[in-house]
Parts: sequence; structure tokens; C-alpha cells
Amino acid sequence: MDINKVARQHLEMENFFSGFTIKGNFEAPEQQNTEDDMTVSEKIAELEKIAEEVHQCRKCGLGSLRTNTVPGEGNPNARIMFIGEGPGADEDAQGRPFVGRAGQLLDKVIAACGLKRTDVFIGNILKCRPPDNRDPRPDEIISCLPYLQKQIELINPEVIVALGAHAARTLLNTNKPIGQLRGQFHEYYSGIGRPPIKLMATYHTAYLLRNYSPENRRRVWEDMQKVLTELGLPIPEQTKG
Ligand code: SF4
Repeated sequence: MDINKVARQHLEMENFFSGFTIKGNFEAPEQQNTEDDMTVSEKIAELEKIAEEVHQCRKCGLGSLRTNTVPGEGNPNARIMFIGEGPGADEDAQGRPFVGRAGQLLDKVIAACGLKRTDVFIGNILKCRPPDNRDPRPDEIISCLPYLQKQIELINPEVIVALGAHAARTLLNTNKPIGQLRGQFHEYYSGIGRPPIKLMATYHTAYLLRNYSPENRRRVWEDMQKVLTELGLPIPEQTKG
């Protein structure tokens, strides 16, 4: 492996996602779900209750292997929820989602969208780390998914961004490859009688780090531009990179 080349590629990608700015005086809409009848403090209390249940959880084998649970974090009124597959070593150590290298790249993607991490909610399908970052197993997903389903139901975002194949396939209940799922909106059903939530699948930022190419980088950015358009948010313009 050419270490210099890999370092150059990472730098190029990070520069790309850092080089955006919103032109004009656009004011982003308030982060609010008008149809929601729960107050923010009620939502926070419910989300904390879920996090507490997760902390106590031993429903699958990962419960005895974790250092910390990683229930997810962010804005209880988020218009966008980013969902990955599960915590890695850094997340397990800190108890927070997307804080390692892939998380830093996700921060840059969020910033490239003109948003802050505190504007969105970030979580995972699994709330405990699979050893050696192996893929989530079906029994683990089945045990853990109800926590995420409850979080989605409470936050009721306008768009879910599924990061990577495992998140996209789980939430859409399909086995299709991520290459077929990404780039278009799907529908996620959060409960009987509730309207479907738009779901955009895209590559996981860890995949982007491992498989850097200008094409993959462009695909993720195109997917995010579709999300911004769906939400009526301005698409920042690239100023460098
Ligand atoms: S991964 Fe989920 S189901 Fe398994 S122990 Fe952790 S919180 Fe419980």
C-alpha cells in the first residue's frame, strides 16, 4: 500500500468536504416538526429513557463485550437522522456515535451541507460494538432494532440518511446492495397510521475512507444534495478543493 497516496487521498477528501459555503442570506427553517404534539423537553425525557434502557440492556451477546453503550445523540427535533451500522472502537470507548475518523468525516459532510452536528441526530442500528468491527449479525439486529425504531418514532425526522449497506438494508428490509439503494429516496415506515419517512441511502463514511475515489466522494455529495433539496435547504457552493 502506498501510504503517501492514501494520506493524499484522505486529505483531498477532507478538503473537498470542508470547502463549501452558503452564498446569500438564506435562513434555515426552524428545526421543528409542526405536526408533533410533544414538547422538546418531553422528547428529551423519552430519549433519555431509551438511552437508560440501552445502558441496562443485555438482550444480545454484545452487551457483555462493550465498554460503553452508544445510544445515539443529537437534536430531538432533528429534520435529518443519520444512521450507521454500529459503534467502532472510538465510539465504544467514549459512548458517543461517530467520533472516530469516520465520524470526523461525517462531521465534514454535515458541515458541507451547511449544518451543524447539533442540528441532526446521529445513531446506529446496534447500540453496542461488535468485536473487531465485524458486521452486525441478524440476531443482534433483531434484538437491538426496537431502540432505534423508538428513537425514529419520537424524533420523527423528515429524512433518514442510512449510512452504508447494513443500515439501509435493515431499515428498508431488503437485501439489495448499497450501490443499487443509494442515490434515490425510499420510504421508511415508522408505524401504523404514520406517514412514511423519506430515506436516502448513501455510502458509510468508513467505506469512503477505505475506498476513496473522486467518484465515491461525488456520489455521497450528490446524495446529500438531494436530501438538502428535499428539505428545501440551500445547497452550499464549493469554494475550494
Ligand atoms: S447491541 Fe443492542 S440488543 Fe445487544 S446488548 Fe447492546 S443494546 Fe442490547
